[in-house]
Amino acid sequence: MSKLKIAIAAAAFGLASMVSGAIAADKGTIGISMPTKSSARWIADGDNMVKTLKAEGYGTDLQYAEDDIPNQLAQIEGMITKKVKVLVIAAIDGSTLTAALQKAHDAGIKVIAYDRLIRNSPNVDYYATFDNFQVGVLQAQTLEKALGLKDGKGPFNIELFAGSPDDNNAGFFFNGAMSVLNPYITSGKLVVRSKQTAFDKVATLRWDAATAQARMDAILSAYYGKDKVNAVLSPYDGISMGILSSLKAVGYGTKDQSLPFVSGQDCEIPSVKSILKGEQYSSIYKDTRELAKVTSSMVNALLSGSTPEINDTKTYDNGVKVVPSYLLKPVAIDATNAKSILVGGGYYTEAQIK
Ligand code: BGC
Repeated sequence: MSKLKIAIAAAAFGLASMVSGAIAADKGTIGISMPTKSSARWIADGDNMVKTLKAEGYGTDLQYAEDDIPNQLAQIEGMITKKVKVLVIAAIDGSTLTAALQKAHDAGIKVIAYDRLIRNSPNVDYYATFDNFQVGVLQAQTLEKALGLKDGKGPFNIELFAGSPDDNNAGFFFNGAMSVLNPYITSGKLVVRSKQTAFDKVATLRWDAATAQARMDAILSAYYGKDKVNAVLSPYDGISMGILSSLKAVGYGTKDQSLPFVSGQDCEIPSVKSILKGEQYSSIYKDTRELAKVTSSMVNALLSGSTPEINDTKTYDNGVKVVPSYLLKPVAIDATNAKSILVGGGYYTEAQIK
């Protein structure tokens, strides 16, 4: 080979190893399976996981399944075939991964459930999340405060929404919220005119905004003529947006008829803007940078033979075992603290939420 050919071949080899180095760094590749890009929070989660793991020297294989269960399963199976070192999974349906996780276990791959518990499997090694019951408590407490329920005000009309029934978190959020709201419903200070109070009646499959909007339309037309709804428990900002659209379509949010207090979760940008405009009432801030940090340190611990740090060993029973967990603290946000917490904490820039 001529000197030139050797030089070209060497350069090509260098380039190739650089490219593959981007995918598989020295410490190996971590598979990250996320549910959907349709919600900004999961995009932030994926980006933050990649950033923290890369800084630790890992390669990453980040994939989104667009809320399609077979798609997520196929992506996870692909990661197992590629022999990722650890799987980090935010499941779409928390109970459909049992067989895949058995394969992961047989291949010596550890599994961390990310934000959402994976059910019906002994092969979930750790769980990194927020205190999900507390999320619901905070959502309801923002409504309690807005309505002045603690001061004895009422009765008020409220309607209830919950998240996707196949997401283990949805029940935790709803139970947390109802632990605050139920006493007022019992005493008559809160009235659910639709009488839809059971989880299976108020759940919203795939956290879908259009589904929630259609349910709110139906409730408003069947139960609210002259009577107005004063508050809506919403589990997630996307759903809150659907509920607000439904309300506005029948005349709420005008001089004559103010909007009810509507809760939310995730502090997604459209909702933060809505809160600052006085439309959505509240949201819950879950700093996904912190969740990524906790999860990455779990990955590190697992791969270096030490024990991941946890702070909960009793709450998250997945049907087969109690999964050792690390729970982060959620924070309630309304118009009074949105800027100081979200911009002050560097989560958003001022320009992003204007
Ligand atoms: C997450 C929430 C999110 C919801 C919808 C839940 O599992 O914990 O933060 O609002 O999914 O994406």
